[in-house]
Amino acid sequence: MEIVWFKHDLRIRDHAPLTDAAATGPVLALFLHEPDIILAPDFSASHGAFIRECLDSLNAALQERGAELVEMTGSATEVFEKIWQQQPFATLWSHEETGNWVSYQRDKQVAAWCRQRGVLWRQYPQNGVLRGLTSRTKRDWLAELEAYSSSEPVKAPRNIVPSRLDPMLAEPVTPLQGAGHDKPGRIKGGRAEAIRLLTEFVRTKIIRYPQSISSPLTAEHGCSRLSPFLAQGVITMREIVLAMNRRVGSPDMASNAYRQERLISALRFFADRLSWRAGYFQNMESMPRLEFDNIHPGMTGLREEQFDAARFVQWKNGETGYPMVDAAMKMLHHTGWINMRLRGMVLSFAVNELWLHWREPALFLAREFVDYEPAIHYNQMQIHAGTAGAGSMLAYNPVKQAQELDPKGVFVRRWLPALQAVPDAYIFEPWTMSPAVQADCGVTIGSDYPAPLVDHLKAAREARSRVADAQVAAGIRQRAGSGSAGQKRSGSTQAGLF
Ligand SMILES: Cc1cc2nc3c(=O)[nH]c(=O)nc-3n(C[C@H](O)[C@H](O)[C@H](O)COP(=O)(O)OP(=O)(O)OC[C@H]3O[C@@H](n4cnc5c(N)ncnc54)[C@H](O)[C@@H]3O)c2cc1C
Repeated sequence: MEIVWFKHDLRIRDHAPLTDAAATGPVLALFLHEPDIILAPDFSASHGAFIRECLDSLNAALQERGAELVEMTGSATEVFEKIWQQQPFATLWSHEETGNWVSYQRDKQVAAWCRQRGVLWRQYPQNGVLRGLTSRTKRDWLAELEAYSSSEPVKAPRNIVPSRLDPMLAEPVTPLQGAGHDKPGRIKGGRAEAIRLLTEFVRTKIIRYPQSISSPLTAEHGCSRLSPFLAQGVITMREIVLAMNRRVGSPDMASNAYRQERLISALRFFADRLSWRAGYFQNMESMPRLEFDNIHPGMTGLREEQFDAARFVQWKNGETGYPMVDAAMKMLHHTGWINMRLRGMVLSFAVNELWLHWREPALFLAREFVDYEPAIHYNQMQIHAGTAGAGSMLAYNPVKQAQELDPKGVFVRRWLPALQAVPDAYIFEPWTMSPAVQADCGVTIGSDYPAPLVDHLKAAREARSRVADAQVAAGIRQRAGSGSAGQKRSGSTQAGLF
């Protein structure tokens, strides 16, 4: 019996462990509902619901090839031991996982259990990660990433001979819920949806992608929305790259040099983001404690001493008094997704203007983001908080961002109906309305909509200066005016990596 352990790789195509195991012998396709993962503070009900849909779609694909997905509940080592007691097996097949601390510890326990039982654990690389990379340069890594992403995806096995478990072992699973509730506007999981999104994106949207990603008015429908599918491994980076290359070579593109050139430039822009993703994975491979510890140890102590719990709650609830921050939070509550610029803005408001340590906001956002991916997530937390090292700290002015990205307040009014009648001139700074204007539009600041939690300009200035002082003290940067690494106010700098 060949056990194929599905984790964040819920697909049958481009799944080398499954293909190789199926060529070796009867396969037990296994997914585990692991309490340690589900009860961890970064897991939520919407993750669980999205994964459920992906599991159903994976099971359907396996059934078409003669197998089926077996789901069991328990810690990995407990379950493997139970199966082994019934039917000893020689090989465990899976992908390598670059996940959170819980999965890292779990993998160490599984490795120890395999050694004890003489089971060979064949783990395959994924997400462009080179495990054990120590001395290679960024250029070597990028070359390998390019070779991987431009190679053909692994074909799904045509037939899979199933290996069945004693029905006593494959008892029906009692799903563990995960924190909170599922989101009414959440994207649906499953392979068919991933392929639909990819096809639509590559055919019609990608050409306008670079211009669409920043404003929430265009990003919702202009971005690929593939992130949760990538996070659960429903689709792979290599499959996406293949679809993009096919589009470039398609007859309508080949016959129009101008369009083809625009397409290629948009594809490069998009592919850059996929390679950032891979870069964050590689980074996390060598920093498994990234979710707890500052990337730069010299920044320890910066925010640890104070945590204003009341501010944290108001931020989580979308009640900061800054309409763009609050609207973004409301959209996130409803859908589990906001675009990158808004992610940066809400986070930077928490860690800079509200001066909250990044760990609790990170966990909250992890539960909220249906596409939560520890490697990207914690790197981004630290880049925004200024704890990632040279040049890091991203601070966004929420009023300027609103003026730039949502000039007429369409997004803000959509998610904050209380501000519907506020005149355009005040929509991003409603606290500046005089009592007469408030009475006129029927919106009272402090009761219909919160007064601002902080003076954002003053708070951001203080945060910048505290971070700068700490970075100087840690020897990461020089004093201002002496050629120091500056802070960026907006943009997409991926500081501190490679
Ligand atoms: C504070 C913060 C937290 C984030 N947390 C996550 C997270 O938990 N999970 C997650 O997938 N992305 C995260 N991102 C990155 C980015 O915001 C999302 O990947 C993107 O918004 C997902 O939507 P999309 O699939 O439509 O992206 P697209 O714009 O269509 O991009 C395609 C893919 O490229 C990758 N990508 C895009 N932007 C980035 C980036 N900046 N860094 C790394 N990879 C990127 C993602 O895999 C994404 O699915 C975070 C960004 C910030 C600023």
